Amino acid sequence: MVAGGRFTARFGERGQRIDQPLAGTGVHSRDDPGDVPSAVGGDLANHLGAGGGEIDEDPPRTARRCTDCGQADRAGFTRTGDSWICRVCALRRAVDRVLPAEPSGTLQLLRAAILHAEPLTTLRWIIRPEIACLLTELAASRIPLTHDLLDAQPAHGGIDHLRDLLVAAGALPADQTRTISRFELEGQRMLAVLLPTHARLVRSWLRWAVLPHLNGPDGTSDLIQATTNARRTLRQVIAFVSTLEHAGTTVHGCSQRQIDDWFSTSRALHHQVRPFLSWMQRTNHLSRDLTLPASYRGKPERRTDSEERWKIARRLVTDDTLDPADRVAGALVVLYAQPLGHVVALTTGHVGHGREGVTLRLSSDLLDLAEPFATLVQSLPRRRRQGVAEQLPTRWLFPGDRAGRHISVAALGNRLRAIGIEPRRTRLAALDQLTKEVPPALLAGVLGIHTSSAVATTNRSGGNRARYAGRT
Ligand SMILES: [Zn+2]
Repeated sequence: MVAGGRFTARFGERGQRIDQPLAGTGVHSRDDPGDVPSAVGGDLANHLGAGGGEIDEDPPRTARRCTDCGQADRAGFTRTGDSWICRVCALRRAVDRVLPAEPSGTLQLLRAAILHAEPLTTLRWIIRPEIACLLTELAASRIPLTHDLLDAQPAHGGIDHLRDLLVAAGALPADQTRTISRFELEGQRMLAVLLPTHARLVRSWLRWAVLPHLNGPDGTSDLIQATTNARRTLRQVIAFVSTLEHAGTTVHGCSQRQIDDWFSTSRALHHQVRPFLSWMQRTNHLSRDLTLPASYRGKPERRTDSEERWKIARRLVTDDTLDPADRVAGALVVLYAQPLGHVVALTTGHVGHGREGVTLRLSSDLLDLAEPFATLVQSLPRRRRQGVAEQLPTRWLFPGDRAGRHISVAALGNRLRAIGIEPRRTRLAALDQLTKEVPPALLAGVLGIHTSSAVATTNRSGGNRARYAGRT
C-alpha cells in the first residue's frame, strides 16, 4: 500500500486535521487503487472510482440522478457502472461497510458525526486502509477498543485524530497520563536524529526539567496545550543541537559565538532553547562562563489607543455580521483584558445563570455579562467547519480543529486580527483602563494574575492606589 508514506506526509507532525483536502490538490481526487482497503474493497472500490468508475468534479452537462437518494445535479457524482451516486451517498455506503448502523453500538455517535461531516474529504479519510480496517474490526467487536490498541498501530497523524474522535464520541475514556506518555514516546522518536550522547543529554533534560512541570503547579493546566508547547520547545532544542553537530562540535564544547549566532535572529522560536541551555549550565554540562541572552520579551509593548479600543468595542456590540464566537472572544480581550490563554480554555461550564442574568466565570470571579454578549455566549460553541470533529459534542466555547480540543492561542489571535483586533495591544490598553478603575486586589481576581504583578501594572499605568491612599 502506498498510503502510509503519503499519509504521514499529509498529516505529519504538525498535527493538521486529517479531513482537510490536501493543499495544492484542491478537492479533485482520483484515488489510487492502492488506497482502497482490502477489508472494504469490492463494491466500495467501484463506488469510489478505483474499479473503473471515477470521481467527476465537473458540473454535469446532462442531468444526473443519484441511484441512492434520487437527487439530481449534485456536485461530485461518482459513476458506478451505468449509474451515478452523489458524494453524500458514496460516504454513506462507505460508512455502512466500515461502521454499520447498530442501535446499541458504542461507535454510533462517531458514525453519526462522520455521516454529517463534509462528504468528499471524510470519504477519503475513512477509506484509508489504516482507518477503515481498524474501524471495521472495532465495529464488529473483533478487537476491544483501548488506548493500548491505538498505541500499537503504526504511528501517524490519522491514528491520533481517530483517538481524539473516539474520546470525544465517548467510545474511549480520556486518559491524561497517556498524553504525557505519548509525548515521551514521541520525544524518543524525535531524538533519534541526534548523536547518542546528545540524545541522552536532551532526554535527561526532558525527564528532570520538562515532564515534571507539564501538569502545572495546581495540576489543572491544559495538558494537551502543555505538551504541544513542550514539543515545540523540544523541536527547537533538537534543531540547535543538530546545528552544532553539523558544525562538528558537541553541546558541551559549544562556543559563545555559536550561542550568539543562534540567538541573533529575532525569531521568538529560537529563544525556546534558552531554558535548555540554562539547565545545562545548572547541571554543569555547559560552562557557566558562557553568556546566555536575556529571556525573550517580544516586541516592545505598544497599546491600542483608547479611541481605537472603544471603536472596536462598539463594533463588537453592534456588528451582527461578525462571527458570534469572535465577538465574545473579542469582548473578553477588549473589554475585560483577558489573555487569549484564558479565553481559549473557557468551557460551557464557565457560563452560568445568576439572578442578574448570564454570568461567565473568569478565574475566581463571576462576571455579569451585558447584552449582546450574554446571548452570544449562550450560542457557543458554534460549528465552524464541516469535519467529523465538529459534529461531535464539545464543552469548549471555542473548539479547535481536533476533536476534544480548544482552539489554539495562535489561531484565535489570527481570527481576532482578521477583524481588526491586535490581541496583545488591545488587551494592554484594556488592562491600563481597568487598573485605573479597579483596585489591584479585585483586578488580580478578575484577571487571574498574581497580585504582585497587578500592583506593578497599576503603578505603571498611573493608578497607584498606595500613593493615592497615602495622600488621603
Ligand atoms: Zn445520493
